[in-house]
Amino acid sequence: MLDKEKALVVFSGGQDSTTCLFWALRNFKEVHTLTFSYGQRHSLETEIARRLAERAGVDFRLMDISSIAGLGTSSLTDDSIRMDEEKPSGTFPNTFVPGRNLFFLSVAAVYAREHGIMNIVTGVSQTDYSGYPDCRDSFIRSLNVTLNLAMDEQFVIHTPLMWLDKAQTWALADSLGVFDIIRNETLTCYNGVPGDGCGHCPACRLRQAGLEEYLKNGKQGR
Ligand code: ZN
Repeated sequence: MLDKEKALVVFSGGQDSTTCLFWALRNFKEVHTLTFSYGQRHSLETEIARRLAERAGVDFRLMDISSIAGLGTSSLTDDSIRMDEEKPSGTFPNTFVPGRNLFFLSVAAVYAREHGIMNIVTGVSQTDYSGYPDCRDSFIRSLNVTLNLAMDEQFVIHTPLMWLDKAQTWALADSLGVFDIIRNETLTCYNGVPGDGCGHCPACRLRQAGLEEYLKNGKQGR
């Protein structure tokens, strides 16, 4: 029996999933986090996730799925590939880890079932979507149905950021009272630099542009 007061956040310690973690804490009584190790270049990412979960006072579980995620090639997991800094036309940037969210959410659902958790929260967004098909709303909805059929359960996948752009994601963090935590303690940068990051990788540029837009338009009072 799944408990509708419990939520599992697919958690990386980046801006998006950390915002989702605090969103979940507002909306559910008991929140768990699940962090995947999939051969990221920077193991600092999982350490930061652990620290943030501890700080939020939620259960943290690290799971190694590098063997499945390693099926595909990506500059995020292979040091010998130089990372695309611009999105190539007609194809995915090589930061794409094929099927990543399919794996993440499928493993998360099995984990959630074992812990009686009905709600699964993921920080994917279609708005700022870098060309990754498994960040689209249609994929998430389809997978939600599939997971329910696969396990004869009633999971609900929540995507609080799906229709937000990066500036709106900053606004959400601010409205949750965690703007400073998100800005200073999360790690979004593909080059492994926490906080405001390296400034030039695609993840940093997206995050920075959103932050500048949010600050320019007047940060809300906290
Ligand atoms: Zn960066």
